[in-house]
Amino acid sequence: MACICIPYLPSQIGELSVEDLYYIIIKMVDVIDRNKDYLTMLDSAIGDGDHGVNMSRAFNNVINELRNVRLNDSDVKSILMIIANAFSSLSSEASGELYSALFRGMAHVVDGMESLDLQLLAKMFKNGVDEVIKISGAKPGDKTMVDTLYPAMEELMRNSAVHDDIFVAIRRVLEVAELGMLATKNMVAKKGKASKMAEKSVGYQDPGATSSYLLLKAFYDYTLNKATTY
Ligand code: ADP
Ligand code: MG
Repeated sequence: MACICIPYLPSQIGELSVEDLYYIIIKMVDVIDRNKDYLTMLDSAIGDGDHGVNMSRAFNNVINELRNVRLNDSDVKSILMIIANAFSSLSSEASGELYSALFRGMAHVVDGMESLDLQLLAKMFKNGVDEVIKISGAKPGDKTMVDTLYPAMEELMRNSAVHDDIFVAIRRVLEVAELGMLATKNMVAKKGKASKMAEKSVGYQDPGATSSYLLLKAFYDYTLNKATTY
């Protein structure tokens, strides 16, 4: 008898809760820990070789703070502010200040919210990326984390205008984020420590663009798991 095959269909994700956010952050901590040496290697080529250590230190502070959080009493803003504060404790590092700005910028538009739909997620991410650009002065093409974050934000905004599925949106966001990250390889660094190498920075992928991609990948991996767990 012929088999009736049920097509693989991920379910739609219309909303993320504070608990989802908590587990996304756990995935982020894990991806940064697993890529600590890789990020440090990238930063050794065009910077001072500390990006993996900086990211890992910040996210380990995040884990320590999250241990004290009662998810039932938390909201999106308080979780995002834990990350913003962990990064601001690395204030001597450019990435610390900029990631702190990203998460603080996101936190500012979700006051009192206990869940996120795609439209709010896009608005929140836009505010965070705008804050990074305001503080750093970096534009797309300058070979920084903005080369991953900016196209990712644009793709998220585009998606939020036409549908409601967070999983589909993040899958598309990850594709453009990867292209943005890879494109930094051929760019001349215009900002940060790598800018001292000028033309000699060509040929190396930017460490901050890579950590931003990895954070989005952790987000995607969580949504993939959620969308395909029945
Ligand atoms: P530092 O450069 O202070 O050693 P990290 O090594 O942790 O800090 O982070 C380096 C990354 O931070 C770079 O790869 C780049 O993506 C980002 N970055 C550094 N300076 C700037 C800047 N002025 N504007 C935008 N991004 C920057
Ligand atoms: Mg560095």
